[in-house]
Amino acid sequence: MNNFTYFNPTRIHFGQGQIAKLTEELPAEAKVLITYGGGSIKKNGVLKQVHAALAGRHYVEFGGIEANPHFETLMQAVEVVKAESIDYILAVGGGSVIDGSKFIAAAARYEGDAWEILQTYGSKIRDAVPLGTVLTLAATGSEMNNGAVITKAETQDKLFFFSPFVQPRFSILDPETTYTLPARQIANGVVDAYVHTLEQYTTYPVQAKVQDRFAEGLLRTLIEEGPAALANPQDYDVRANLMWTATMALNGTLSTGVPTDWATHMIGHELTGLYGLDHAQTLAIVQTAVWKHKLAAKQAKLAQYAERVFDVHDGSEADKAQAAIARTEDFFTAMGNPVRLSAYGLGDEVIDAVAAKLTAHGHTALGEHADITPDDVKQILRLAL
Ligand code: NAP
Ligand code: FE
Repeated sequence: MNNFTYFNPTRIHFGQGQIAKLTEELPAEAKVLITYGGGSIKKNGVLKQVHAALAGRHYVEFGGIEANPHFETLMQAVEVVKAESIDYILAVGGGSVIDGSKFIAAAARYEGDAWEILQTYGSKIRDAVPLGTVLTLAATGSEMNNGAVITKAETQDKLFFFSPFVQPRFSILDPETTYTLPARQIANGVVDAYVHTLEQYTTYPVQAKVQDRFAEGLLRTLIEEGPAALANPQDYDVRANLMWTATMALNGTLSTGVPTDWATHMIGHELTGLYGLDHAQTLAIVQTAVWKHKLAAKQAKLAQYAERVFDVHDGSEADKAQAAIARTEDFFTAMGNPVRLSAYGLGDEVIDAVAAKLTAHGHTALGEHADITPDDVKQILRLAL
């Protein structure tokens, strides 16, 4: 196991009715900006619960943050934060609203061109408006981590940044808020959390039994509860298990002391930026193609994954690794996320385009050993056609 430092300062309030905790979490005198997306929180009553908790407080609202949040939209919110002297941001929504709000929080207190925040991976952030969240979509883990992914629509650049300054101070996770998710977003959430886990688990070499078994537990839970959520959208226990799994999958726990891959995410971001596929749709396409390309190096870990997650005990190590790939593709497909580019009408035109974008972004050495070059990416995408 590698050395690590582990610290996660986000306070979590989990369960039914917990939105009422906003009353104590938000300082009474704070002027709050409530940020949200396209309006799902108005239809499903989540915004009403937020208003009830904030009765008598000072707040303004900024809606319209789109999926894969746009820099251009978020800069409008930055102007509101400055004009209204906002001193707390409350993000109410999924990963896009939360990520976008992290950017707003940092950009409002950033000197200079705010796009630099993305170009420097957040390393130049020195301050941010305090941020809390009410999560409505179990997927990204953004509610309990310090990362965010932002898209400049004008140039189709989808880039990430990290900063301890944008880690949510608190997050409220009420599984009931997720009852209204459409099937496509249930699937996306399950696949995103699943691939977050894989990116930190199917790496090598590792002697980290605790992290492996955490990961295997999360994967097995997603395999059980993902289809159950599609079948019974209002089953509280299913939603609760999914919500806590997705948070645990990317809150820093799994990555302690192990190498992490993230090639699938980096390639996926470019596919979303260029072609508008949902984040998790790209992951379902790219993940197993990365494994096929790195099969020799990852075979032993994939065999462990097949044994412990899919109960595959017959055959050689190579057979088990192949079973791991096939079973993973079956799971993504069963959730409703196809595993080939062709399912979205995309063909080999994407290969050079994605490799060129990655190169332009300086992402020319991907994977846990930084050995996936733009040429490797082209081969990976060929495997995903
Ligand atoms: P999302 O983009 O936040 O939301 C997708 C859709 O779901 C939106 O149309 C939204 O509608 C709707 N929705 C959300 N909650 C709902 C509810 N309770 N009922 C009905 N509809 C609801 O989806 P996401 O998967 O959570 O976030 C994806 C983004 O996060 C991508 O940009 C991805 O790159 C990023 N990401 C971030 C991290 C991280 O660590 N920070 C990790 C992985 C991915 P409304 O807009 O109307 O609310
Ligand atoms: Fe993700």
